[in-house]
Amino acid sequence: MSERIEYHMGRSFAGTRLEDGCPCPKAPCGLVLATGLGVDRDCPEHSLAAGKTIRQTHRADACPAVRFNPATDIYMQMTADYRAPFWEDENAFITAYGHVDKDELARQVQEYDRHVGADDTDLVPVEQIKHAWLRMEDPTDEESLMHKCEPDAPGAFPATTIWNVR
Ligand SMILES: [Zn+2]
Ligand SMILES: [Zn+2]
Repeated sequence: MSERIEYHMGRSFAGTRLEDGCPCPKAPCGLVLATGLGVDRDCPEHSLAAGKTIRQTHRADACPAVRFNPATDIYMQMTADYRAPFWEDENAFITAYGHVDKDELARQVQEYDRHVGADDTDLVPVEQIKHAWLRMEDPTDEESLMHKCEPDAPGAFPATTIWNVR
């Protein structure tokens, strides 16, 4: 079973001029939903019957109008029924949202390591797991670098990290 990927689409190379007046349900960015609620079957721009070229699409999970929300967006959906409740970045840094129980996070990381077939699936020593405050360099970009910060910094969120040790 694979996850269905939702797209937003538009008829112009940029902007939503041709979407603004059309009857289709709209995504937060003003484009129309390529699947899901779908397009209005009578839309003169987007219906299959209109047969017009789509010039702009992005994945719903990359919609520029949807701002990143650490509380709900920090997870990795590995398969339909397994979701890791943290991020692992390219440096193998683990970041979970909130100041979570460290033993529980260690167990979840071990489960993830087994899931991905890692060579080393030992429990991370709890003293390597830290409660921190982080912020995103650019909160509209999920790939944005995360930095440690003070709890009162703009955009700061609580996190539990395993950085620099795996
Ligand atoms: Zn339309
Ligand atoms: Zn969009």
